[in-house]
Amino acid sequence: MSIDHHPSEERLLDYVSGGLGESWSLAVATHLALCPKCRNTVARLEAMGGGMMDAAEPATLADNSFDALWARLESEEDEADSMPAIAGHAGKIDLPEPLRSYVGGSVDALPWQNMGLGVRQLLIPTADQSTARLLCVAAGRPVPEHTHRGEEVTLVLQGAFRDSTGIYAAGDFQEADETVLHQPHAEKDRDCICLAVTDAPLKFRNLAFRLVQPFIGI
Ligand SMILES: [Zn+2]
Repeated sequence: MSIDHHPSEERLLDYVSGGLGESWSLAVATHLALCPKCRNTVARLEAMGGGMMDAAEPATLADNSFDALWARLESEEDEADSMPAIAGHAGKIDLPEPLRSYVGGSVDALPWQNMGLGVRQLLIPTADQSTARLLCVAAGRPVPEHTHRGEEVTLVLQGAFRDSTGIYAAGDFQEADETVLHQPHAEKDRDCICLAVTDAPLKFRNLAFRLVQPFIGI
């Protein structure tokens, strides 16, 4: 699996420091299950955090500035690329952990809610105020064009989608906010299944879609 889009450095740092809510942690942790590069980064951040906690001298803490930390991480990134991925997605997909613990392992057995327009969703209960859901967009179909009142992250689990910012395939992690107006299209060859986390309802351009929004829970 070739993964081109990763969580931001800030988000990985928040993940390591325990600063992310459950929904966002679920998305990051599931990406980590698929991405050896980010697993490697997180492992080194955790080691670095432990080292900083152990440092008794204030001078030692100053030496470990985050600029220096990221310079060091970036210089070591090449070796991470050679690590094997945990899950392969050539045929029928098995959902990776920790997502699997929330919804079960088999995509075919999921109790999808049909939203019309070729889109199905499955809401995932989490303890924080954000919303986590699986989305399945039929091959070749668009998701209605929308912006965000807050943040949205999308982790592709099967198939691929494209929008004005690029192509996202299995394992890719997209981060969007209120400045991004996008209309993702599932690629033609396969239904696209994603884990999406939002901290506020999406804002659709289409008035009809906005009217039914409260009833379908997107
Ligand atoms: Zn990654």
